[in-house]
Amino acid sequence: MSLDDVTVDQALQAASIPTLMACLVHITGERRWIEHPFLPRRDIALFADPGGGLPEAVQAQVRDGMKRVLAELADGRRQLAAQPDDATMLDIMRTIIAEPIPPEYVTMVREEMGLADRAVHWSNASAPRLERPREDLNVLIIGAAISGLCAAIRLGEMGIPYRIVEKNEDIGGTWWENDYPESGVDTPNHFYSYSFEPNLDWSSCYSKRGEVLEYLERMVEQRGLRRHIRFRTEVTSLRWHEDRQQWQAILRGADGSTTECWAPVVITAVGQLNRPKMAPFPGMETFTGPWWHSARWRKDVDLAGKHVAVIGTGASAMQFLRSVAATAAKVTVFQRSPQWARHEADYHGRVGEAGRWLLRNVPYYYPWYRFGLIWRFGDGLLHTLRKDPTWEHAARSMNRRNDRHREVMTQYLLSQLEGRDDLIAKCLPDYPPYGKRILVDNGWYEALKRDNVDLVTEAVARVEGPDVITDSGARYTPDVILLATGFEAGKMLAPMDIRGRSGTPIRARWGDDDPRAYLGIAVADYPNLFVMTGPNTGLAHGGSLMFVTECQVRYICGCLKQMAERGIGALEMRQDVMDDYCRRVDQEHAELVWTHSGMRNWYRNPQGRVFGPMPWRLVDYWSMTREPNLADFHVEPIAEAA
Ligand code: NAP
Repeated sequence: MSLDDVTVDQALQAASIPTLMACLVHITGERRWIEHPFLPRRDIALFADPGGGLPEAVQAQVRDGMKRVLAELADGRRQLAAQPDDATMLDIMRTIIAEPIPPEYVTMVREEMGLADRAVHWSNASAPRLERPREDLNVLIIGAAISGLCAAIRLGEMGIPYRIVEKNEDIGGTWWENDYPESGVDTPNHFYSYSFEPNLDWSSCYSKRGEVLEYLERMVEQRGLRRHIRFRTEVTSLRWHEDRQQWQAILRGADGSTTECWAPVVITAVGQLNRPKMAPFPGMETFTGPWWHSARWRKDVDLAGKHVAVIGTGASAMQFLRSVAATAAKVTVFQRSPQWARHEADYHGRVGEAGRWLLRNVPYYYPWYRFGLIWRFGDGLLHTLRKDPTWEHAARSMNRRNDRHREVMTQYLLSQLEGRDDLIAKCLPDYPPYGKRILVDNGWYEALKRDNVDLVTEAVARVEGPDVITDSGARYTPDVILLATGFEAGKMLAPMDIRGRSGTPIRARWGDDDPRAYLGIAVADYPNLFVMTGPNTGLAHGGSLMFVTECQVRYICGCLKQMAERGIGALEMRQDVMDDYCRRVDQEHAELVWTHSGMRNWYRNPQGRVFGPMPWRLVDYWSMTREPNLADFHVEPIAEAA
């Protein structure tokens, strides 16, 4: 974009003033830009007021200041100042957010802003040679999506050989599979992207699936990752062979043929939500019309003129309902439990030309804009999800702050459903907000108000031929059934048959809904196996999957570095360390909203143990995964036969 398209003035007019202030300090080293009168007001909105609550005259000073600085940079009168030291970073962060941010966040934020290196480096400049010749520290990565690709990039940078096996015919995992109408992110995109791979061209604040896939594809092409990926190939089993200190993987191709491959190290990067829960009730296969799951969307069936049943009211249904309702003749939505939905004013917001110009042309605008999102979409919510033992409304909320969120969401729901007391009664949840995965309203209430949409507040008990039958025995006869019934989240790593040192299948240890791992990554009895997005690594209070992925990759690379530099043949998580970690996870969760008994959620198992989300602040997980401690593992040298 050139200055002819958007003038500097136009762009600065659209800019976030607090972000410009941060950039000014960063570019010039002059702290005056975060001193009186440049002190924005605190704003908890995710996309904060661009003016920062500052008087117009002060805003104008900031814009003028930036215009001057840009001109000076352009004609060479000014050079960029050195990176701010930690104290200055913290002052900038605190001032533009107007909150007392703890110093422990500075390094994490620097990394997330892409200003500090998060990669693991060898102790010597050149990659170490192993003590004895051995098959290289060859890594098998299972899955070519957000986490697998991140692992591949970092391994590649370290010169560690790897190959990726992917079950689908292309990259992207969940983004490749979930092609339902309006499928897209619920996390702001400028934050839902890797710290090392900024995208200055997101068209929206929350982009749709296609754009996320394009981002990943671009990265794969530019970094030459595709040649490492074997598509349409599934790992069916993994067996640890003690004598060789290697994993034997059985791979099944699209034609059903199997091959084996050996790798000293395996990284599973298959996601938590990759196996659709097809129908958690009997009789689906007897249905006489077309039906499908949201993650297996069919485009060959035209919904126009049809009576469509939508079963499930989670994040997937939330995104596709309004589009289905606008197409179908009639829609019956089956809601087993009501959901809390947040209003997000910028959910459909576009990033205008001016916005993209700023991201491209103002030094540090992108990192500081990203910081604002990281902070507002970060740890701030977690303490509001904690039980207050003195709180008198424990059934409906966790504490006063959580009750306030409840109030805001209730008011929003009431405003959306004004005049429809019938729908208000059906839609207002009685459990604390955030107890289930929080939703962002994508026209849900508007869709429910349509004449062609009915909301049935009963679970589906079974399907019999043409009929959908609810718990009370009521029958409905739709033409098409859309299942939005979620995923087999508890059966992590299924259906792979994974047997470690003792030969015990991981499924036997974890059952269908009790996966456990140290940091969600390492499992006792399974040496040299690293799980990404494993147990208790989901984010339910804020943050971005990309962030967790990068933390995990750093930890794994740290382990591989130690293995290579110290001639380690097997690194196996200690059972006591893992058990202690899981105990701490459980203790923490016992205090948090996801164990509240008022609602069901896919985060916990029938015994009440939360296995999906992490209970930690982002900064805690970042700190725990910064560097592996070899004392947490049984460490074995490379065996004679290996
Ligand atoms: P989900 O949240 O697990 O929702 C499944 C739905 O099916 C629930 O509403 C559940 O009711 C309902 N259900 C199950 N059995 C039923 C029955 N017999 N009768 C009627 N309803 C029944 O699944 P999802 O919507 O696919 O979302 C899963 C996760 O994927 C999300 O939580 C999120 O992490 C991710 N996701 C993210 C995005 C995004 O970021 N944009 C979009 C989609 C999905 P109950 O509520 O009573 O259990």
